[in-house]
Amino acid sequence: MNAEALARAEESRTWFRHGLFAASGNLVLTLICVGYLVGGYFRTSLPEFALLFGSAWIGQGVLLWLIATGRSRRFSDPALTAPLMVWSTVFILIAAYYVDVGELAGGTRLSIMMMFFAVLLLGSFRLRTRWFYTISTLTNIGYAYVLFLAFTDPEISKGVTESVELVQLLMFAFLTTVFARTGAAIAALQRGLHDENAALEANTARIRDLAIRDELTQLYNRRHVMEVLREQKSLADSGGYDFVVGYIDLDHFKRINDTWGHGIGDIVLKRFADILRNNVREVDYAGRLGGEEFVVVLTRTRLADALVVTERIRKAIETADFSDVQDGLKVTTSVGVTAYARGETLEDVLGRADAFLYQAKQGGRNRVMHGEATPSRVVAP
Ligand code: GH3
Ligand code: MG
Ligand code: MG
Repeated sequence: MNAEALARAEESRTWFRHGLFAASGNLVLTLICVGYLVGGYFRTSLPEFALLFGSAWIGQGVLLWLIATGRSRRFSDPALTAPLMVWSTVFILIAAYYVDVGELAGGTRLSIMMMFFAVLLLGSFRLRTRWFYTISTLTNIGYAYVLFLAFTDPEISKGVTESVELVQLLMFAFLTTVFARTGAAIAALQRGLHDENAALEANTARIRDLAIRDELTQLYNRRHVMEVLREQKSLADSGGYDFVVGYIDLDHFKRINDTWGHGIGDIVLKRFADILRNNVREVDYAGRLGGEEFVVVLTRTRLADALVVTERIRKAIETADFSDVQDGLKVTTSVGVTAYARGETLEDVLGRADAFLYQAKQGGRNRVMHGEATPSRVVAP
């Protein structure tokens, strides 16, 4: 749960960095255009310039905002790769159209259009193949349109050598296609790697689950419970929080098996495991030690609070309805509960829980017995 939240936050940060990377390219372009404007080589007035780039930056800001606030999560690509690329292309086309350096216009335009290769690289992080081609094609159309405007506008066409610019457009179209193809291949590789990693992670989790869980009930197995207890002991001994151990044994389970059969016995064990799971917190541990013997490790818990939990468990199985499994089937449990005392061994605390469980059996079963160091009173029924 917590690890998942961390992974999500890390993911969001990656997407945001991605967005900032795109924005930094646009910042460079904007600064270059400011330079041209100051030098008198940009075909707009200052207010027009402010309006043009102001709107472009508002769009850029909206995209970054969508990513930063997590609102982009509902889209198929929450990193907003394609919109970011399109937006960077808008910046590039604005610059390519308005920069006017007279005779050098053609060369300048091509250098500005070169920025588009950085945009394509941005896409190689995660873009789908068809988007590479779509954005490249749109950019080439945009470039061609800018040239068309330049060729037909008498004021600009002074500085235009049409044949050179057309060759440049063709070269550009060729290069963008090559880049788009390569970028798409890199993105596909990345996706493959990502999928393989996910599969590997899922497999590791499955293997870990097999190692620490009991097959029938899916509760933790004895080995894992012992590991948890060792951890809890060292936490408590180093001045952390105390914990409580509860041993739970089904009453006359042999009779249930003998009367209704092993299959019914197994169903009872699984139902009881569900009850355990539903009655402890996320931070607690419920395990099956073997047969019809179970354990709960209640972390950061005092004995008085643990008794409320174990009593609730006892009551839940006593009142559980098994009529769908077998008419007349009733199940009860005996429970021994004790708190860990700092400095004692695990054998001490487990031995004590076991002794209280034994007392519960001796006292007539279907009850919780508890104590700190020496056996004390009966809690239920
Ligand atoms: P008590 O109230 O004293 O605990 O009596 P009990 O019959 O529950 O205790 P006992 O230890 O004599 O019997 C436990 C039974 O649990 C014996 C065994 O057949 C049964 N058992 C152990 N593991 C499993 C299992 O995985 N499935 C089923 N169905 N029964 C199991
Ligand atoms: Mg039993
Ligand atoms: Mg037993």
